[in-house]
Amino acid sequence: DDRAVSAARQPDDAAEASLRPQTLADFTGQAASRENLGIFIQAARARAEALDHVLLHGPPGLGKTTLAQIVARELGVGFRATSGPVIAKAGDLAAILTNLQPRDVLFIDEIHRLQPAIEEVLYPAMEDFQLDLIIGSGPAARSVRIDLPPFTLVGATTRAGLLATPLRDRFGIPLRLVFYTPEELLQIIRRGARLLAFALTEDGAAEIARRSRGTPRIAGRLLRRVRDIAAVQGAHPVDRAVADAALLRLEVDRLGLDAMDRRYLRRIAEHHDGGPVGVETLAAGLAEARDTLEDVVEPYLIQEGLVLRTSRGRMLGEPGWRHLGLKPPRAPMP
Ligand code: ATP
Repeated sequence: DDRAVSAARQPDDAAEASLRPQTLADFTGQAASRENLGIFIQAARARAEALDHVLLHGPPGLGKTTLAQIVARELGVGFRATSGPVIAKAGDLAAILTNLQPRDVLFIDEIHRLQPAIEEVLYPAMEDFQLDLIIGSGPAARSVRIDLPPFTLVGATTRAGLLATPLRDRFGIPLRLVFYTPEELLQIIRRGARLLAFALTEDGAAEIARRSRGTPRIAGRLLRRVRDIAAVQGAHPVDRAVADAALLRLEVDRLGLDAMDRRYLRRIAEHHDGGPVGVETLAAGLAEARDTLEDVVEPYLIQEGLVLRTSRGRMLGEPGWRHLGLKPPRAPMP
């Protein structure tokens, strides 16, 4: 998945660490989540207690990892990060948990991909800060209970619905991250250009903001790629026209959609008469994983009204037809 506009992490995104905001005050957007977190962090600090467990859910690239790190920093505690698929055995999780310092933040990315047997270990750890472990096997096996330091689990997932209910219920602070507005992205891009010492005009920045699919990770990536293209061309400073040409070269269209998005829209228009069509059928037709469509491709298209999710499947919305430059075959459904 190496499309310029993909929200998924890519190798050259290591550079993005330098653009990561370090404090809650520095973090742009997500006003509701930011406000809630600020209050709960303040209260936990005042009581010198571990913060309640936090669940961050939303499409990739909106700042879940960034927020988790900020939570630890604002609490003034240590930060440990792992991810659901990496924890293979209950013992792996036990090792992580027993090595935490009191009130530390443990971040588990893709927490929906934890194996059920490992989730079971997590429940008493989250609820009572206790670990129940089976030592040995056969008739000699015995269960031991280990007290853990109080800690804060920050879990991240693309969709809260992917979590088993008992796991979801154990998070006292569930926060949904939403796509950023062009104004918020503009602020993020201005800050990024400043940090990269990149001469970008205000309308150049606005053009990148509008075409970043509501996603800071994409904004940061487009910023770096536009800078590279402009440097080769000797364009200085980079204004709207230069940014526009660079983005088109990256196959990012005027709405910020990329080749994959357009392939998805065209598939519904041309193979399914605008829908409704089931997501499984679409995934098979496009040779993409269903999860990729649901987690990465669709959320933004749905938010923008290009695609409608109905009980009978996906349909192309009126703006979707317009964007493809096609006429709907019949009056489009609402
Ligand atoms: P994934 O779900 O794929 O792990 P994520 O939601 O954890 O993604 P992050 O890695 O936190 O996303 O963010 C991606 C990048 O976007 C960060 O490195 C940072 O540079 C930038 N970023 C995210 N949120 C913000 C923000 N509010 N302000 C400025 N930059 C941000």
